[in-house]
Amino acid sequence: MKKAAIIGAGIGGIASAIRLAVKGYNVTVFEASATYGGKMKEFVQDGYRFDTGPSLFTMPQLVDELFSLAGKNPHDYFRYQRLNIITQYFFTDGTRLTAYREPEKFAAEVEEKLGVPAARVKEYLAKSAQIYEATAATFLHKSLHKVSTYLSPDILKTLPALPALGLTTTMHAANAQAFSDTRLVQLLDRFATYNGSDPYQAPATLNLIPHLEHNIGAFYPEGGIYAIAQSLVKLAEELGVRFKYNLPVTEIITENHKVTGVRTTAEVFYADLVVSNMDVVPTYRRLLPQIKAPEKTLQQPRSSSALIYYWGIRHSFPELHLHNIFFSQDYQQEFRHIFQEKNISPDPTVYVNITSKYTPTDAPPGCENWFVMVNVPHNAGQDWQNLIRVARETIIQKLSKVLAVDLSSLIVTERVWDPVGIEADTSSFAGALYGSSSNNRMAAFLRHPNFTSKVKGLYFCGGSVHPGGGIPLCLLSAKIVSDLAPNPNSA
Ligand SMILES: Cc1cc2nc3c(=O)[nH]c(=O)nc-3n(C[C@H](O)[C@H](O)[C@H](O)COP(=O)(O)OP(=O)(O)OC[C@H]3O[C@@H](n4cnc5c(N)ncnc54)[C@H](O)[C@@H]3O)c2cc1C
Repeated sequence: MKKAAIIGAGIGGIASAIRLAVKGYNVTVFEASATYGGKMKEFVQDGYRFDTGPSLFTMPQLVDELFSLAGKNPHDYFRYQRLNIITQYFFTDGTRLTAYREPEKFAAEVEEKLGVPAARVKEYLAKSAQIYEATAATFLHKSLHKVSTYLSPDILKTLPALPALGLTTTMHAANAQAFSDTRLVQLLDRFATYNGSDPYQAPATLNLIPHLEHNIGAFYPEGGIYAIAQSLVKLAEELGVRFKYNLPVTEIITENHKVTGVRTTAEVFYADLVVSNMDVVPTYRRLLPQIKAPEKTLQQPRSSSALIYYWGIRHSFPELHLHNIFFSQDYQQEFRHIFQEKNISPDPTVYVNITSKYTPTDAPPGCENWFVMVNVPHNAGQDWQNLIRVARETIIQKLSKVLAVDLSSLIVTERVWDPVGIEADTSSFAGALYGSSSNNRMAAFLRHPNFTSKVKGLYFCGGSVHPGGGIPLCLLSAKIVSDLAPNPNSA
């Protein structure tokens, strides 16, 4: 039986393991840390449970597909519900806006709170859907670096739509052209942060993202986001995949430009196929010193990172939901701080995620588990201890004012994760959350492909390579890897 070695048990590595096992490979996953999940882990502290990284879950069908592919019923492993309220927004002028599940109800709320005609909002969401429909099959489900992609019938949907895809303008410019209400523009510009980009630079094509959340829906997995990794690892193990923890890969072994296996801190493991779920930059720098690295690709600007305060709060806030956004006054300045000045705005937009709203056992009775995040630059040697201290004060002041409480007195337990910690814990280069940013219109083509023509049998998955970061795209990267991998019985 042909053997596949996977480097890393992040969501992309786990999904690749499942797909390759189904395809007929004997799969072993090597994970540097003590358990699976990568950025998607969990921890419990003083009676509060926290998901470490991702909190917004879209496109659950991509998780279901893995169970179906293995001939299992997804509901026997993994359950989720569609959110009735997607996000609660707080603007600096005091406006509060609820993003409801139904596009019509959301549009009516925008009309009532912001005075923008509901019909215009629905038109915008319909356009967002059109961009998605025209691009997804070509840009997200296939390799951009194979001629076959451009010969596939799906290209017939993409080509005629090209002029409407917004490649020549920025997200912000397109949103500001669509709406004069600066609050609605800010709400729509925020979707750039879903892949760590800057709406003032990223192409308007990314205005397809609202379609995923507002037309298809946002979801909550029973038990929290970590349940995604847990249920998929259970499936992988049932398929015979072996997970080896605390076993970092130190080298990808090649012979005559063909992969022959991996070296770990404990063994040499021979494999016919190797998939790296490690960030592509350290994969080349640390594991493949014998290969000339694709410098132009590796030197693409990084995406943003995150600073997260996990707070146990001894109070409950009925006005808050699962996802809450407290906007800044000047969004452009905030992104200038992140992407040009490489520091944190004195008035950052604050995201608060509270899973105890859906899973009450995630916090003691009457309390809430707050995942409080601000977007920050990738690590470039900043004085993080100082930035963490200052941002903490700013966030507490801001939220205390909006919620009319003394927040600092309600925090009973705390942990912090910053770009340095994110890199140390997951090997993500410079702590960037999504690999390279999408801050220019060629970004999609400049991400590393899911294979390399320099080493036969070596593939790449996860958030640092095509099609990008975030749970859905990492799952799609695994699909592309498995589609590209040779059939083990005929290879
Ligand atoms: C704070 C935060 C918030 C986020 N919010 C969202 C969100 O709301 N929604 C969303 O969809 N996405 C979100 N994301 C992004 C999402 O979490 C990632 O895109 C995704 O989880 C990355 O998965 P991955 O497959 O790239 O692997 P990673 O999670 O990066 O894991 C890589 C794994 O490889 C292992 N590894 C590295 N090097 C080696 C080696 N040499 N040998 C063995 N193992 C190795 C690491 O230990 C790690 O376990 C967020 C991320 C963070 C950090």
